[in-house]
Order: sequence, then structure tokens, then C-alpha cells
Amino acid sequence: MNKIYDVAIIGAGPAGSSCALALRNSGLKVALIDKSTFPRDKTCGDAIPGPSLKFLKELRKEFKLELQDFEEKHKIKSSILYMPNGESLKIDWVTDAYNSQRIHFDDLLLNQVKKHAKVSVYEGIKIKTIKREAQKIYIKSRDAQFSIICDMVIGCDGANSTVSRKLGEMPPEDLSGSVALSARYENVKASNEANEFYLLKNFPGYFWIFPLGKNNYNVGFGTTKPGYSKSVNLRQHFQKIITTDPVLSEKFAEAKVHSELKGFKLPIGGKKINISGERFLLTGDAANLIDPLSGHGIDKAIKSGMLAAQQIEKCFQQKNFTSSFNTSYDAAVFAIYQKELRRNFFLMKIMIHFPFLLRMVFPILKYNKNLFHKYYYVKKKFTPVK
Ligand SMILES: Cc1cc2nc3c(=O)[nH]c(=O)nc-3n(C[C@H](O)[C@H](O)[C@H](O)COP(=O)(O)OP(=O)(O)OC[C@H]3O[C@@H](n4cnc5c(N)ncnc54)[C@H](O)[C@@H]3O)c2cc1C
Repeated sequence: MNKIYDVAIIGAGPAGSSCALALRNSGLKVALIDKSTFPRDKTCGDAIPGPSLKFLKELRKEFKLELQDFEEKHKIKSSILYMPNGESLKIDWVTDAYNSQRIHFDDLLLNQVKKHAKVSVYEGIKIKTIKREAQKIYIKSRDAQFSIICDMVIGCDGANSTVSRKLGEMPPEDLSGSVALSARYENVKASNEANEFYLLKNFPGYFWIFPLGKNNYNVGFGTTKPGYSKSVNLRQHFQKIITTDPVLSEKFAEAKVHSELKGFKLPIGGKKINISGERFLLTGDAANLIDPLSGHGIDKAIKSGMLAAQQIEKCFQQKNFTSSFNTSYDAAVFAIYQKELRRNFFLMKIMIHFPFLLRMVFPILKYNKNLFHKYYYVKKKFTPVK
């Protein structure tokens, strides 16, 4: 039998959980559905961008205290960028920043929903069919055992979004060439309190080592086309980097891997695409909101989930679910992120095609660290999380 809801949120990652939590006082009947059973892991660098915490605190001020009690986080004081010639630049962060394995962080967020929102949470259900008919949305699981009829569906289902494929437009081809790979290691000779980024010779993107505490490190790299060709096997390339790069091979001399090396596409932002339509909104990775330079997407997933909740409430208040009405959601998301994503997309392209320019700019950045702080805190008006 069909279950009837006002809103179905597909995907319970940072975007979906934030959206569900933001709807807790709306009076709407909300279903949150994920194909995984939580706690579940997610291929990621496990770096939780500072703004994520600010947004979660905005969502529920009690989150600040709950975060203090959350043990599965590792405080990060700085980031260090290493150039291929060994020169480095250290940036000390003024806001709180943590690394946390996604198996724990995403579970923390979903538990917020389970504890504080009257939302029906369905885990272990993979949505396959989504149809818009007779002013309703019809949703079915892969095995057709689970079906929902609702007024609105929210695509929080990540990089391979089913909601986007069934109802939205596919992202432009040239944005889809970015990928990242990661694995967890122990015994890496790296900082325990700084996220390390390495720019590699003749390879676009960056390699990272992010400490997770207890001798545990998230290690990976992100890269993009056309900087690497199809013929490059990225897994093999990863192994080559940690065994032959003069600096990194030293750091990995005694390292032991304790998870599979997994890769995933990075739906980076930078070009304007439609992220809503009649009776649906897309958020987070489903809306291509990953920063092309840093690869960070958790903060934008959370914020877009919150903005989607505001739009949903407006739709129900005004009984208007049309695509033209929902463009105000696109406008709200792009007002915050479009300028930054477009600029970083442009910078990413410059770095790929003209890497020598970064070498030229590097000394300026090194001796003007305020430029970084301005870039991250002043322009975005982020205030430190208290
Ligand atoms: C290797 C790698 C490293 C990264 N490192 C970082 C980092 O360090 N910091 C950072 O901020 N960002 C990082 N990112 C990006 C970050 O992982 C994403 O931006 C973020 O997870 C987006 O959140 P989301 O909620 O939109 O999607 P997701 O976190 O992907 O959540 C989507 C959810 O939808 C569910 N789902 C999908 N399809 C269906 C379906 N058909 N039916 C039901 N459920 C479904 C999934 O099970 C999943 O739980 C990295 C990405 C990669 C690939």
C-alpha cells in the first residue's frame, strides 16, 4: 500500500538530515529515505569544513553542546600546503575545524533528526522510480515493496542522484570529469593537528593527508579532466605517488592501509544549472555544489538542505509547487555560492593549464597569509563558532 506524505527527502547524508531537521517545526508530514542502514561510511576526506558547524548551530543551538560531547572528532588547528618543490605554506585556522569519519559524523546528524524531528526515517531502501503525475510525486523502491505518494520530493541523494536523473537536468558534460579517491591509513609520518595538502608535479589536483586521531589518517587525492587522461589508472597512480614521490614515499614508508581505496566522482560547482523544477528541489552533491578548488561539499550540502526546507515551507503555505515558483530556491543557493564556485572553477582551470602561475603567486601568498583569512572569513562573513 502507498504511504502518503507531504514531502519525501531522498538521501540521509548531510543535505538530507539538515533538510529534515530544518522542517521539524513545519507541521508537514515528512519521510527521509536512504538506501543504507546507518551508521554507514561514505568515501570522503573526512574534513568537516568549519561553516558546517556554524550552519548546524544555526539549525539547533543545542548542537553546540552536543558537538562538545561528540567523541568521534579530531580538532584541526591548521592546514599546510606543500608545493612540488617542497616549499610550504601554513595557515592557522581561527574557527573551530574538525576531521571526523563520515560513518560517525553522518550518524550524528541523522540522530539529530531521529531525536528532535517527527520525521519518518526509512533506512535500507533504495529508490529507483520517481514519477510526477496528476500533481503528485510517485516514488518506489527498487524491489517495489516500498512506495510513497507525496506533494514534493527533495533530491539529497548525492553525486549519482536518482531524483536529478528522473526529474531534473543532467549537469553539463564538462563539469563531470572531477574525481577523488581516498583510503584510511595508520603509521603515516604526518602532522597530527594539521591537514596536509600536496601539489604534485605534472598531475592536476592535490594529494591530502588528514589526521583523524589515534594514529589514523585519511589519505587521498582529487583530480580533474582534462589534466589526466582516460588511460591513467587512478588507483595505480595513487600507489605510484606514495611509493615514488620523494617526499610522500618517506611519509608512507611504514604506513599500513586499513580500508579499501575507493574513488567517487566529484560533482563540482561553477556553472549555473537548474537545481529545482515542478515539485522537486536538488541539494548538496545532487545540485553540483562541491567547491572545485578544495573539494569540500559537506558545508554546502548542509546549507542547501536548510534553504530547501525554507522553500518547501513556502510551497506549502502558498500551495504553489511550480518550477517558476521554485526558481527562488535556485536564486537563494546561488546568491550564497555562485560567485565563489565560479571563481574557484576558473582558478582550478588556470592551475591545470598554467601551473607555473601558482609557483609565481606562491611567494605572495606565503608572505600575505591575511589574504587566505580574508578569502575564507571576511568575504563569506563567517564568524568563529563559539
Ligand atoms: C573522495 C572524496 C573526498 C571528499 N572529501 C571531502 C572533505 O574532506 N570535506 C568535504 O566537505 N567534502 C568532501 N567530499 C565531498 C562530500 O563527500 C560531499 O560533498 C557530501 O557528502 C555531500 O553530501 P550530500 O548529503 O549531498 O550527499 P551524500 O553525503 O553523498 O549523501 C547522499 C545519501 O543518499 C543516499 N542515496 C543515494 N542514492 C539513493 C537512492 N537511490 N535511494 C535512497 N538513498 C540514496 C546515499 O546512501 C547517501 O547516504 C569528498 C568527496 C569525495 C568523493
